[in-house]
Amino acid sequence: MTDVSERYDLLLKGGTVVDPANGRRGLLDVAVKGGRVAAVGRDLPVEGSARVLDASGRFVVPGLIDLHAHVYIGVSFFGIEADDLGPRTGVTTMVDTGSAGWTNYEGLERFVIGPSETRIFGYVNLSGVGLPTRRGELVHHDYLDARECAECVLRHPETTLGVKVRLYEGVAGSMDLRDVLKAALEAAELCGKPLMVHISGGNVPLEDLLPPLRTGDVVTHCYHGFPVGSILDREGRILPVVRDARERGVLFDVGHGSGSFAFRVARCALEEDFLPDAISTDVHTLSIKYPVYDMPTTLSKFLGLGLSLDKVIERGTIEPARIIGIDSDLGHLGVGATADVAVFELEEGRFSFFDVEDEELIGPQRLVCKATIKDGRVWWRAGETGQSAED
Ligand SMILES: [Zn+2]
Repeated sequence: MTDVSERYDLLLKGGTVVDPANGRRGLLDVAVKGGRVAAVGRDLPVEGSARVLDASGRFVVPGLIDLHAHVYIGVSFFGIEADDLGPRTGVTTMVDTGSAGWTNYEGLERFVIGPSETRIFGYVNLSGVGLPTRRGELVHHDYLDARECAECVLRHPETTLGVKVRLYEGVAGSMDLRDVLKAALEAAELCGKPLMVHISGGNVPLEDLLPPLRTGDVVTHCYHGFPVGSILDREGRILPVVRDARERGVLFDVGHGSGSFAFRVARCALEEDFLPDAISTDVHTLSIKYPVYDMPTTLSKFLGLGLSLDKVIERGTIEPARIIGIDSDLGHLGVGATADVAVFELEEGRFSFFDVEDEELIGPQRLVCKATIKDGRVWWRAGETGQSAED
């Protein structure tokens, strides 16, 4: 007899796998061993699995990756506790987008990224101080330093992804946002990494802001509802300069937040087949209370706007993984990948969602996280009547 006592550490049984990166979809079991995906297939054997989770009637997807979050708790006004949110929402990886600048990124790495169970990466703010308050982080022009910013990115190669800059009116006092962008691009060039640009609330049209962006740079808040800096023209059509940028390889991220996601803009964009590359939350101390809450809610809004479940999952898993260059290991369920897995119930009914303009969207479906597996272990599980903690 073959010894099957250690075949798998964990077996997710009977769920519907949605793994867009590998073109896999269907009723499949997912087996995990040593923190990695060991097998995906029909009717994998229960014998020899140390633990079995029944996923029948549920969707089994890669652990979600939130490309835009703020987790520098205790230092940044915007910081929330990553580990309070990630496990119960299926998010195993978060990207902190510029909460830390080049004077205090070290602290983010030591006191947040290191101790957190959530996997966290960061963009370094062009401003030395990052986002300690809600006030303009570049109002003091001494805080703007492309070289210092680039050096900081290079000093922390394990966790940094690139440079972040916010281009809203007044962020740098009276300084022209075109010049702020120029400095941010200089920092990104110096460290050889991508730039993430916040485009909402600015006073400069995208005709001026998008052409300098390069392949791999990320535009966040792409569906914001401000008239200036919108991706739409007055008739609600996608601007040619936006299409040009996409063709060049510039990436577009949702970054919902408290002020930067309007259903009416998203509807126009989706109608013209201008889908986001990544669906992210921009979750922070304010937006977490309303109207963002979390990734499953944000993804569900896109279901309500008419995107398919597969397209939505793709934009919350493998697409952000590609954007930040971790896609060989994360964002998919291929054999050998890191075993980050989320189990969702897709509830049917009438669900109410809001954007930043208080528009109500009634959606027919809602993703509800039921279990999260990180690095091959059950990280979080919904309590349900009739089940013991150990089954
Ligand atoms: Zn943000």
